[in-house]
Amino acid sequence: MIYLDNNATTYIADEVFEAILPYLKGEYGNASSIQHKKGRAASHAVEYARTVIADQLNAKPKEVLFTSGSTESINMVLKGVFEQYHLKGNHIITCETEHKAVLSICAYLEKKGATVTYLPVDKNGQIDLQLLRSNISKHTILVCLMAANNETGVIHPLEAIAEICQEKDTLFFCDATQYIGKEKLDLQRIPIDIMCFSGHKLHGPKGIGALFIRRKSKPIQIAPLVHGGNQENGLRGGTYNVSGIVGLAKALEIIDYSTPLNELRNYFEETLMAHIEECTIHAIQFPRIHNTSNVLFKYVKGSELMTKLPNVALSSGSACVSGNRDPSHVLKAMHRSDEDAYCSLRISFSRYNTKAEVDTVVQELTDAVTKIRDSSPIWQLYKSGNLG
Ligand code: PLP
Repeated sequence: MIYLDNNATTYIADEVFEAILPYLKGEYGNASSIQHKKGRAASHAVEYARTVIADQLNAKPKEVLFTSGSTESINMVLKGVFEQYHLKGNHIITCETEHKAVLSICAYLEKKGATVTYLPVDKNGQIDLQLLRSNISKHTILVCLMAANNETGVIHPLEAIAEICQEKDTLFFCDATQYIGKEKLDLQRIPIDIMCFSGHKLHGPKGIGALFIRRKSKPIQIAPLVHGGNQENGLRGGTYNVSGIVGLAKALEIIDYSTPLNELRNYFEETLMAHIEECTIHAIQFPRIHNTSNVLFKYVKGSELMTKLPNVALSSGSACVSGNRDPSHVLKAMHRSDEDAYCSLRISFSRYNTKAEVDTVVQELTDAVTKIRDSSPIWQLYKSGNLG
């Protein structure tokens, strides 16, 4: 199997696997039971991991919290800020292309009295910064914008967004689930207030994530989502997932940002476009994370194309909404027709993919697209210029 669905989840790196093993077997202590050696060993592992993660992001260990992943972190931040800042206001700003985790909580909060502004994007997935600025009012409690889109890879201008939020004294929460691990992020340089990511998107384990909450002179208030023991200063109860935490830190620590992922992705895009007519890459000229390509194969349904490539893992939409037959809300927001959205596929690479794999996949895609189009009346009509 050639695995090109790395925005859905990733292979656990060997170093991560090795780091986790002791905490699944011998070192099974509860990190909160520090009265004895086993507990202290687990607690030490958790705190060391927190330091490693903070170092990687140029943050402070106290600013890093562990959760079960981005869905939980996003729930915690949106619900927790809405609850804590109700005296300031009820207005949240987000964007039409956010992940369903964000959009579904916003829909939930609207039923609880929140007013949500969904910023539109242009055909390349770009938001209008002036529109963001003009929408922030004294009632705005949170701006929630992702770092990189999971379907197209399009990157939001984080520095500019953070500066606008700072200037308007509004909290900026960034879902960086698809960004961390692919691009280096320096939280001293970019004044994001709150940020989350998940271990399994960066060759770490599933079921573990980190939430960064900046320590500021005016402390950020977030009501807990999971009540329980006093873990994470009472912000997130529950026994620590020690092996997950150790794995997350190791996954982040071993990333070599000097090996550019975009060489493979660019090679794929160039070869593909040279082989297949009427195939376009969404937002090709715009800043995208280095591993992602979202390709429109005109008049070839992505789901049909995938059935012709049983040994290649690709995605015809976000994995988190798979089973959903609606056209991608991201591509629709980028002004694509339903037809074009259905005919698009996401290909997402990892640092473990090879050029030989790319060559194989391009060849298989070329053969499959040709076969499907050869027996497609709509394609014949389109080619002959007779499509009404
Ligand atoms: N945000 C983005 C941008 C994602 O891509 C995903 C998962 O695909 C999530 C949030 C949710 O992450 P998790 O499933 O790890 O909770």
